[in-house]
Parts: sequence; structure tokens; C-alpha cells
Amino acid sequence: IKFYSLNKLDYDVHSLPYSLRILVENVLRHLNNGIVTEEHLANIFERKGEIPFYPARIIMQDYTGVPAVVDLAAMRDYVAEKGGDPSKVNPEIPVELVIDHSLIVLYHGTKYSLEENMKAELNANKERYSLLKWASKAFKNFRVVPPGKGIIHQINVEHLARIVFYENGLAYPDTVLGTDSHTPMVNGIGVLGWGVGGIEAEAALLGQPYYMRVPEVVGVVLEGEPSPEVTPTDIVLTITEKLRKKGVVGKFLEYTGNLEALSAFDRAVIANMTPENGATVGYFPIDGETIRFIELTRGKKKAKLVEKYAKLNLMFREEEPKYDDVVKIDLSKVEPSVAGPTHPEDRIPLKKLKESFKPKKKVKIVLEGEHEVEDGIVALAAIASCTNTSNPFNILAAALLAKKAVERGLKVKPWVKTSFTPGSRVVVKYLENLGLMSYLEALGFHVNGFACASCIGNSGPLKREVEEAIGEGLVATAVISGNRNFRRRVNPLIEHTYLASPPLVVAFAIAGRINIDFEREPLAYDPNGKPVYLRDIMPTREEIKGLEKIVGEEMFKEIYSNLFESPYWDMIKANEGELFEWDDKSSYIRKPPFFELEPLKGDIKGARVLVFLGDRISTDDISPAGKIDPESPAGKYLRELGVDNLHTYGARRGNHEVMMRGTFARFKTIYWPTGEEMSVYDAAMRYKQEGIPVIIIAGKQYGVGSSRDWAAKGPALLGVKAVIAESFERIHRSNLVGMGILPLQFKDPSVRKELDGSEVYDIIGLDDLYPGKTVKVIARKPGKTVEFEAIVRLETPIEVEYIRHGGILKYAVSRLLS
Ligand code: SF4
Repeated sequence: IKFYSLNKLDYDVHSLPYSLRILVENVLRHLNNGIVTEEHLANIFERKGEIPFYPARIIMQDYTGVPAVVDLAAMRDYVAEKGGDPSKVNPEIPVELVIDHSLIVLYHGTKYSLEENMKAELNANKERYSLLKWASKAFKNFRVVPPGKGIIHQINVEHLARIVFYENGLAYPDTVLGTDSHTPMVNGIGVLGWGVGGIEAEAALLGQPYYMRVPEVVGVVLEGEPSPEVTPTDIVLTITEKLRKKGVVGKFLEYTGNLEALSAFDRAVIANMTPENGATVGYFPIDGETIRFIELTRGKKKAKLVEKYAKLNLMFREEEPKYDDVVKIDLSKVEPSVAGPTHPEDRIPLKKLKESFKPKKKVKIVLEGEHEVEDGIVALAAIASCTNTSNPFNILAAALLAKKAVERGLKVKPWVKTSFTPGSRVVVKYLENLGLMSYLEALGFHVNGFACASCIGNSGPLKREVEEAIGEGLVATAVISGNRNFRRRVNPLIEHTYLASPPLVVAFAIAGRINIDFEREPLAYDPNGKPVYLRDIMPTREEIKGLEKIVGEEMFKEIYSNLFESPYWDMIKANEGELFEWDDKSSYIRKPPFFELEPLKGDIKGARVLVFLGDRISTDDISPAGKIDPESPAGKYLRELGVDNLHTYGARRGNHEVMMRGTFARFKTIYWPTGEEMSVYDAAMRYKQEGIPVIIIAGKQYGVGSSRDWAAKGPALLGVKAVIAESFERIHRSNLVGMGILPLQFKDPSVRKELDGSEVYDIIGLDDLYPGKTVKVIARKPGKTVEFEAIVRLETPIEVEYIRHGGILKYAVSRLLS
């Protein structure tokens, strides 16, 4: 095999972290193409400056993919209008879009739930799916995985990832950018990749390099062996807590030490929660276990190729590289845990769970008889999410626990909505082969969909009686085997969500409450009145490991033989032309006006604060994914269109009219010139009418959460010119830049406390922007003027270009037309 050899370099490659070796190969392969130079190579070894990076492929999901396709379709129109060739707007590298974010768990608890939910999904999403089907025919290199196949990252790990590409005799590493923050899950099997904003992905698929700062690499040294009672979920929750405390935002993590203690599936669980610890990448180098996993999922031939290439080109784990920093984590100290109630890094050891939650209110609920319940009841128990349903150990543990519970005559409490939404059909295949599916079903965990579902907030309605009790002030909780638990993420009525392993999800469904001491209190009583404790039905590690062997190569082969086909997909109609046929009446898909946005020109004068925010504002706070309130600006707009089913913001991301109205939908703001309180959208429109520029002021970790590009597109359409924050989360900062919004960071964070948002702002020094520049901000209000400095959070010269052009899309199209 031919390859760009790292062996021949004059640098000390052996001491370079494995993840950076992949970047070196990327630079070597593109060296002297007019953009990539020897200096970029040096930058990697010296950990300084930036490099242009060319991913081998892009992955998208439908929430972020639909707007990306809308942009590409609008770009084709724009190029055609300007006399250019629209077919040049075309992905230059493979793009795979997995439809997984739209299914809602409307039906649950019966063998018909899956079909009913899928029918409802297709009905509600015809227009969006029609656009995607058009795109799969109109664009080269663009494939769509139809709904009902699974979750993007799980499918990527199990099938889509090439690990090593082999084309025309040339081998090179698979590298991937994904428009979803959990893209690093694939780092668990030796593929370098991370989440980016939809806007950056669009630029990359159009052949633009992705510019990145060379990151520091933190070696995460795993020591010891996990004790028999812990699950991969317990391990990842512990790692998340420790790494958040250490502070690894924006860095590459590379796992080292006793990696033999972890299967490739376990590694994928750990890599999945990389955004939760704040790092960009959580890389596991290729080793014997990776090769075994590739053999299982992709066959012997592929495994051999990967092994050969990785060994020949210094990418197979052997010697210990030098890391910029090191953190040690002792696996033997991991204990059974959950995380919550509102942040994934807030781990709670299971034994301390009861004392962490103090119920206050009691209410009576009539559901299969009358029950007195109190705060902390589990209203939703969901085995869901790519994080944990990708791991057979976790799923088999849940199924075995269900079997033992059923055999002891236990039932799920009547107020719990149960849900099972695996990330791939392989899961059901092995559960059925082992005869375990029926036990999960006996407890109400029927498959409701192969999709994100509850993990993205599509958990559907809770039991009606529970919703009423919540309306009376009862605090209900959710337990989910996912990776995020921000307030109301999983369900709009639930503020407290606990992340837990799949077997614990089943256990909590049986217990029916979160404030339980599993050591001392029984889960429930069997029909003979005997108490049953968690320890009585928790399967042993040996039992689970024994069954894990059943998961075989033929299952992956069978399930993935028809990944891009589906009878449901065949029913979706789509036009076949080069240009998309926009429907002016569509409430889901509209041609966006991004190409008409004015770029930032020089200093900002006389600006008002559109919204004044605190710390840790998430992308979900900025651009929610969940249900549209009929009384909100977006709800009113849709009702004026005559739309009854308002659906979710996530599903309507192809319609900018909905999305700009939904931006900051959960907040009220003040229109400062008159002091009136109103929605953020209404205020923005008033400022626009008056020709007043607007900015946002925020605290620490602005944009925490996801790669959601609408969290930047929405503010751009509302006229926001700059965001001044105490700090930014990585992906959101680059999304802001991608949309032409200037990120500025308080030089002295304490200044924010002197402001209240009522001031009029001048931002001076924006004429000659460069990364890291300090600019002056003057905030005036009657009787007080605050003058302070802010740092321009642009990281590379190309980002200055993006701001000057009004964002990446306008920059890319200007190059196409020239
Ligand atoms: Fe879907 Fe949740 Fe996985 Fe994101 S983390 S891809 S929402 S299942």
C-alpha cells in the first residue's frame, strides 16, 4: 500500500501523541497545494499557531443537516442568479446524513409503538425529508440514511467510519467533522473527528480547509481495573466529573495507560461524552482491541488493512508519546453512580443519591389505583441515546436485570413512562437472538424507535395524571442513559434529569422514585410480599460477559447490508432538478436570506443590548430544540400560516422565519429605549426598524452544549453584531464567527457586574481586526459611564476574513463566483 509516510520526517514522530500524527499525515498529504506549507507541519510539532485541516468526510444529522442542505440549495440559487454554475455547489468529500433527531415518542409500551411513532414521524416531516431526498439525488457525494435505522454516532462507530480509507492504492486515515457535538464518539475506535458548526461543515464539504489552532494534548492515564459492579456508564460519568474539574476545554485528550481494561465499545462510550468534559477530541489510539472491533463490525479484510497501515505509519499504539499535560484516573476507584440533576459532570455516587434529593410535596395520583407520591417520582425512564445503547454490555445488563425482575414478579410503577430507543438495529438483533427482548417488553421497554428520541427532548407526553401533578407543583424526574441533562432538555416539564446506566434506568422504573437508597431500601416487593433489592437482580459481570460473546460479525453484516434503503423512504416524494423547488407555503422549508446579511463594517456605535445573560447559557437556551409554545412569536407566526401542529423548533430548522422568532424564546428582554418588556424577537425587530445595532452580553461558558448552528444563525438574523462574554465554548464561538458575529471577551470579567444591559454601547477599534486584538468598549447610561477592554476572540486570520465577508457562506460563495 502507498501512503504519506511519517517515518521519513526529520521530526521526532515517536514522541508525538497519536492523535497529532493523524494531523501530520493530513498536512503531508496536502503539502504545497497553495495553502498548506512546511510551516504548518512545524506548527504541529511545536504546538503553536494554526493549521488548515482537510477532513476525509462529513457526517450530519437531520436537525443540523436540514439547515445545511437549505443553505446549499440557497447557495445554488444564488450562484445561478449571479450567472455562475450551480452544480459547482456540491460536496467535494463524502457526506453522510443520518435522520435520527425527529422521531417523537408519542406511543410507547406496546408492540405497535415503533410503527406508530415512525408513521407519525414521516407524516410530520414530509417536507424536510423531501428536501433531503432531493439533496441525495442532486448532490454528488451525498448519502442519506433514512429514518428508522439508528443514531448517527452509533451507526458511525458500527459501520460508516472507514478508519482507514483505501483508494487507488493510497491509504490514509479516516478523519471526520460532524455537525453534532458527539462526533468524537468515533475517537473510541481510532478515528480522529470532532463536532463543528453546520456552517463550518458546509465550508469544509465545499473544499475549504477547516482552520484550527494546534491543540495541546492531555494524556489521560487510566490506571487499575474497574470493579465487577461498575458499568461503562459509571466509568464515563466519573471521567467526565474529573476532567471538568481539571479543565480541558478546547484540548485534545488522548487516552493511555491500562486501555486493555476497556473494550472498544467501552471506549466509544467514554469518547462519546467528550463534549461533556469540554475537550475537542477524546482519542483512543489504534491497538489490538480496535482491530478486533473492526473485524467484528467490518470483517477480516478491513481489519487487516487498518492494522497494516497503522503499524507501517506509526499509528498503532506502541511506545508512549509525550503529552503536554497528564491526568491520572484510577478505574479501580470508580463506583456505581448517576449524574444530575442538571449537569452531566455533577456525578452522585449511588449510595449518596437519597441524601441529595429532599422531597417536599406529596400528591395523590390515580393510575391503576390511588397512590400517594412525592417529589422525585420518576416520570420518565428511557433507555436511550448513542452514549449507552451502543454498548452491548450495558444493554445486556439492562435486559438481564429486566429478566430477573420479571421472574420475581416485579412491575414498573404505573406513573413511569418507559421508553427504549436503541441507536442501531443490531441491538434488537442480539436481544432477540438471546430471547431477552421479551423481558424488557414485559416491563414496558418496547422499542419506540431507532432514534435519539428522549435524548434530544422528543420524549413525548408523560402520563396525563403525572403532567397534571406537575402542574400542581410536584417535582418529577427523568432517568435516561444519555449524556446530557440540562433543565428541560429531555422533557419540557422535567427540570431534574439523571444520567444513569441502562440497568439502572430499568431499576428506577421499578422503584418509581429517584430518592432511594438502593443499599437499604427494596426496589419493590414481589407478589408474596418479599422485598427485592437492587443487588438481588443486578446481573454479575460474568453473566453479562458470557452473553456479550453472542454479538457476532454476521449481525452487523445483516443489519448494515441495506443501510441506505427503506420502504418508508421510498414513500417520500422529491423533485429531481439541479435547483430545489421552494414551496412558498411550506412551514418547514424556506429559502433563507443569509446572502443578504450586511457584514460588520468598522466600529459599532450606539448599540443596545438585545439580551443580558448570566453564566453557562447553553445553545439550547439560545435556540431551543423542543416544543413551540403557541403563544410565542414562532407559535403565532405558524398559527397565522394556518398550521395546527406546531411541532418542535428542531424539526423546523429549515424555516428561518420560525427559527429567528424562536431565538431566545425562553427569555424576556427589555426594549431599552422605552423600558417595555417583550420577547427577544419583538425587541430585535423594533431595533431593526429604528436602525439601532444590537449586541449580547453574557457570562462564563457562553454557548455551552452543542454544535447547534441556529444558536448563531438566529442571533445573526436578529441583527446581533457582537457578543461580549466572560468566556465562550469552543464550537459556539466558531459558529458565531461563521455567521459574521464578532465574539469579544471581557479582559477583566468582573466588569460585567458593573453593567445591567440598559447602557448604550460603542465598540471602538474594529477597523483593523486581528486575532487577540484588544478593543475599547464604552457603555453609557444616565449618570454612569463604564469603559473597559475586550479581547477579539478570533483565532486565525481566516476568521477575520469570515467576519469581513459576513460569515463563511458568503466567503465560500465569493470564492466560487471568482
Ligand atoms: Fe442523538 Fe442524544 Fe446521541 Fe445526540 S447524544 S446524537 S441527541 S442520541
